[in-house]
Amino acid sequence: MLIVLHPDVSAEAQAAIEGRVRELGFTPHPISGAGRTAIGITGNRGAIDPGPFREMEGVADCIPVTAPYKLVSREVKHEDTVVDVAGVPVGGRDLVVMAGPCAVENENQILSAARGVAASGASLLRGGAFKPRTSPYDFQGLKQKGLELLAKARSETGLKIVTEVKDTETLPAVAETADLLQIGARNMQNFSLLEAVGDLRKPVLLKRGMSSTLKELLMAAEYIVSRGNKQVILCERGIRTFETMTRNTLDLNAVPMLKRESHLPVVVDPSHGIGIRSAVLPMARAAAAAGADGLIIEVHPDPDRALSDGMQSLNLAMFEKLMREVEKIAAALGRGLHRVARA
Ligand code: PEP
Ligand code: MN
Repeated sequence: MLIVLHPDVSAEAQAAIEGRVRELGFTPHPISGAGRTAIGITGNRGAIDPGPFREMEGVADCIPVTAPYKLVSREVKHEDTVVDVAGVPVGGRDLVVMAGPCAVENENQILSAARGVAASGASLLRGGAFKPRTSPYDFQGLKQKGLELLAKARSETGLKIVTEVKDTETLPAVAETADLLQIGARNMQNFSLLEAVGDLRKPVLLKRGMSSTLKELLMAAEYIVSRGNKQVILCERGIRTFETMTRNTLDLNAVPMLKRESHLPVVVDPSHGIGIRSAVLPMARAAAAAGADGLIIEVHPDPDRALSDGMQSLNLAMFEKLMREVEKIAAALGRGLHRVARA
């Protein structure tokens, strides 16, 4: 149930309503919207009787919430959520582009990538330091050293950092460096990891599992938000289908559906979504046209020598072209590309 408060509710009246929710053994979640506050309730198994709440001072309305994912649903919060990634707004008017290599490989590689993507107008630098790999014999990332190189690239370019957190053990180290914590597709239902990032107050990029439904993605986001971390960005990155010509099938249906169901921002990863370098640009354009709030793109200064995902990584010139074309699509929709102000 959602308790909608009067616009001029007093702090005491709101506290009394939240106290009553707690008395029933449930958890109140204040949600501020334009001009009004509402209180979402979690922890109840069946429907809650709205009767006693309706009579309380400051209550304007009690609305049943039918979605199983409550706090991330549009039913509970109508306005779009704008996630603040260290000053970069994701989910607002402008599209945000995150770009960089699949993995941080060495200083020269990450700094060249960072300088190049910054020059083309990216706002965040991506790059895995802890890499989840299908084969144990593949490059596993530079780990702590990779985090240090990302921090160096940030201080040189001003780009914010998005990097993957693979497990709860390394979460403290990754959270210290990352501006945006990436939960990978393989970890979308790692519930201990979801709970652990839910206890932080740092933005999270939650990637859809390769065999997960949109409902499962929203339920995974609910794990994070229900623990108090409201800064979640959803990411469509392609799903497994019968098709074998592409690495995955980029499910752009996800964009309008997630935006209909949820107030959270939606970002698209066409690199993993199609897995073929020459096809990333058209799918990035399509994602922008579908209404994505941002893109995450793999870019490497020398893709043919990349230690991971070189086949789908753009070189810097291709990325520059992508930015120009995506900007035109965004403009057609009355949106721009977010730019980081540089000194
Ligand atoms: C990545 O972003 O490099 C990555 C491993 O992505 P995903 O979790 O979507 O496979
Ligand atoms: Mn990758």
